[in-house]
Amino acid sequence: MLVKPFLLYSDGEGNIYEDDSLYAVGRAGWDAFPVESEQWIELPQGGNLYELPGRRGIGIDVNTGEMRLCEKGWAVAAFIPPAYTGLFIAAYETMPDAPTLPLFCYTAVGWMNEKHYVPAVRIEKDIRQEAAGFDDTKVKAGTAHLLEAYPNNRLVKHLMDNCCMTYHCPAARNFSLGRWECPVPTSPACNANCIGCISFQPEEETIVSTQDRLTFKPMAEEIVEFTVPHLINAPFPIISFGQGCEGEPLLMWETIKTSIIEIRKHTQRGSININTNGSKPDAVEALCKAGLNSMRVSTNSAQKHIYEAYYRPNNYQFEDIIDSLKVMNQYGGWTSINYFVFPGITDSEAEYEALRQLISQTNLNMIQWRNFNIDPDWYMGKIGLTETGDILGVKQMMDLIQEEFPNLKFGYFNPPMERIKGDYNHQFAGAPLP
Ligand code: SF4
Repeated sequence: MLVKPFLLYSDGEGNIYEDDSLYAVGRAGWDAFPVESEQWIELPQGGNLYELPGRRGIGIDVNTGEMRLCEKGWAVAAFIPPAYTGLFIAAYETMPDAPTLPLFCYTAVGWMNEKHYVPAVRIEKDIRQEAAGFDDTKVKAGTAHLLEAYPNNRLVKHLMDNCCMTYHCPAARNFSLGRWECPVPTSPACNANCIGCISFQPEEETIVSTQDRLTFKPMAEEIVEFTVPHLINAPFPIISFGQGCEGEPLLMWETIKTSIIEIRKHTQRGSININTNGSKPDAVEALCKAGLNSMRVSTNSAQKHIYEAYYRPNNYQFEDIIDSLKVMNQYGGWTSINYFVFPGITDSEAEYEALRQLISQTNLNMIQWRNFNIDPDWYMGKIGLTETGDILGVKQMMDLIQEEFPNLKFGYFNPPMERIKGDYNHQFAGAPLP
């Protein structure tokens, strides 16, 4: 079936309509592009639509084939759920007084045959964050049970009251249900100043962080108390330091080291993972010696100048994150990058070459192709990128990387130990039986 969806627009009051005089297109960098039929998929369950105030959608005129603006209303974009990677951003022209958009991803979207379509690929089979997998009644019961089981544990209280019941964090909700990946935030501080930080936004910025940063430093005892039972009892168990509601966990490496050593006295089951900005290779080495199993380093780019323009690091530099990946690999641990995908930058020829180099020099195990939750114009303006150069297309770039590095895994989530050590294609949440 040829997929050629119509552009969507909003009346500015939350009502969304299709404009059947225009076909939807996609954006990469600062430019709009037609989207190939096979790159459109139905908007997955758990996806949302956003109206973009102060922005006019760009489409292809169904009669002339020319690109032009939709003057009928504001532009519309889609938030695609985890496990899917967007291939194009929504295409629009921004009016001078348009407000900065909040920290969500803005994927292109169109309408055809009574359905919404987005240019995206399912990059991860693991179902741990599927919207349909969360039963609110069971989550509430699980929350009450954990708060009762750990009455004096500040971290469990934070995870249940804030993360689970207020922010609806899928990781905290899975912890309340006693399954899969359990979040373990530890650090109130950070040594980076990311433009799109989701846990801290400076006063002068008009946008707000999507969650508040942890306000206390947990003790190793508090961490060990709930993580040991989770590792022993949960299916495909992982505990993950480094969450969206904190700063940088490596600044708490001594507490994490003590926790890992104590945890492993009680159980060898499951994976102990850290999501980090990778800024301190020496701290990573200390955690490897303690028994860290897996590490995911977040980055918006494999190019030093683009990375540092976004992370605005304090007392570390891009080379340190490369060293952290090398150290983890030398100790036999699993290494991933949490790769913020931004069409037009991620798939530029310069980025492709830099990513090939990063993979080779670190012997990387996995790329988590993550949608970048940020206002596209604001981001490119802030990092000073006026020109992105030639682009390959995100899907084509993925295929080229996979072809050159056949053992490199693609996904969206940290793999459980069963997947790292066992049958990668059958050992994860929701996997089909072999
Ligand atoms: S590394 Fe994480 S916590 Fe630190 S500024 Fe960046 S996004 Fe925020």
